Amino acid sequence: MAITEALLLRKMPYRDADLILSLFTKDMGKVSGLARSAKNSMKRFGGRLEPFIHLRVSFKEGKGGMKLVDDVEAVQVYRAFMEDLDIFTWGSYLLEYTDAVLPQETPNEQLFNLLIKTLSELDSKKSVLPLVLGYQLDALSLSGYEPSLASCVDCGTEIPGESYFSVKRGGAVCSNCSTRKNSSLISREFLEDRDSMDVYLSQVLKYIKLFTRFTEYHTEKELKSGKFIEELTL
Ligand SMILES: [Zn+2]
Repeated sequence: MAITEALLLRKMPYRDADLILSLFTKDMGKVSGLARSAKNSMKRFGGRLEPFIHLRVSFKEGKGGMKLVDDVEAVQVYRAFMEDLDIFTWGSYLLEYTDAVLPQETPNEQLFNLLIKTLSELDSKKSVLPLVLGYQLDALSLSGYEPSLASCVDCGTEIPGESYFSVKRGGAVCSNCSTRKNSSLISREFLEDRDSMDVYLSQVLKYIKLFTRFTEYHTEKELKSGKFIEELTL
């Protein structure tokens, strides 16, 4: 038996009444667990098998090493996600993003704590876009996908304030190495100064789109909400 804090990333129906849950747990990383009779036993799990609830989950060992979800308690329910469609949509994006950068069964407590903190801040309705961009950047570095921003990915030259950015090559490219085709211009100073992001929301949205494409390319996972993000304008 193992007990750990967790957030629900996804759930899939299984057989008649069971659910397979993909959970980001604090102690074990991303794990799959079988919740028996979850679809018809309200008593056992209540309404707790939902995203945007900070959970405490007990697992039992099943046959063949399968994890059985035995009990689920709510540590905190983030209500804004149920009440505000905009926050719900961005929150769903953050969960999908996290799912993409996280390998299976690799503990990552720092990323777990960061996700909890970001969901709490969204729940208290802080400005959404800077939180999302900050989360993207931190999640990339905590999961090993950090883009190189300080020096050119091709020749290693130190990058001044502004540079081109190549999604495929994985970071900033200097003006000598850039083909400029399909490259976006980025400003490292802007990305490092999170306090002033609130003032330049259309810039923030541009970076969110850029790092969404970057993440899809390097994780080789298509984000369902990526299309929605790509079409957003301010
Ligand atoms: Zn270069």
